[in-house]
Amino acid sequence: MPLQDITARIAKAEAEAGRPAGSVKLIAVSKVQPDARVEAVLQQGHRCFGENRVQEAAGKWPAFMERYDGIDLHLIGPLQTNKARQAMELCHAIHSLDRPKLAKTIARLAQEIGACPDLFVQVNTGEEAQKAGVMPGEADDFIAECRALDLPLRGLMCIPPIDEEPALHFALLAKLAERNGLAGLSMGMSDDFETAIALGATHVRIGSAIFGERVRPQG
Ligand SMILES: *Cc1c(COP(=O)(O)O)cnc(C)c1O
Repeated sequence: MPLQDITARIAKAEAEAGRPAGSVKLIAVSKVQPDARVEAVLQQGHRCFGENRVQEAAGKWPAFMERYDGIDLHLIGPLQTNKARQAMELCHAIHSLDRPKLAKTIARLAQEIGACPDLFVQVNTGEEAQKAGVMPGEADDFIAECRALDLPLRGLMCIPPIDEEPALHFALLAKLAERNGLAGLSMGMSDDFETAIALGATHVRIGSAIFGERVRPQG
C-alpha cells in the first residue's frame, strides 16, 4: 500500500479518536526489506524507520544516513546487553527495554557516551513465555527502577499475542502508562494500527502494509 494511503489512514484514525492531527508517529518497519524498497520510502520524504535487529540496522542505515538528513531510527526488537552500545550510537529510540541488567547497562553507557536514545519499556501484556517484555504485574517496579537510574523513559511498548483481540492489550498498556505518568505508547502494527490509535497509540510500527510482504520471513 502506498505510504500516503497509510498516512491518510493514520490521519483519519486520529480524527475519529478526537486526537490532534500529527499526534501519532509512523515508524516504517524496514526489517528484511530490500534497500530499493526502503529507498523508495526515503525518496517520498519519510524519515522515521524501525528495525528489530541491531546487526541488520548497523549494516543498512549508516549508508542511508550519509545520503539522507534527519533519519530517525527506532530499535523495536530484543536487545542483548553486548549490543547496547552499538544500538545507542545508531538509534534515536529503543522500544525493547525489558530487564534490570539492560537498564543498568544503558545507564552506564549513557554516562560514557554523553547521550541516550528515548526509551520505551516493553511489556509482555499477553504474558507469553516466548515473548520479551516485563510482565504487567512487574511494570510499575521496573519503571521506578529505570527512573532511579535517570533513564529517559518516554513510554511503553507491546506486541499483543497474534490470536487475541489486540484492543484488550492496547487498553492494558495505556492503563499502565497513565498510572506511571508516561506519555508514549508504542503499539499497533499493519493489521491493527487504527485500533491502537483509538486507544491512544503515539507510535505505530508498520512494516508489511507499507513495504509489502517481507522477502525473508522473520518474526
Ligand atoms: C515486524 C515488526 C512490526 C511490523 O509488523 P507488520 O505486521 O509488518 O506491520 C512491528 N513491531 C515489531 C516489534 C516488529 O518486529
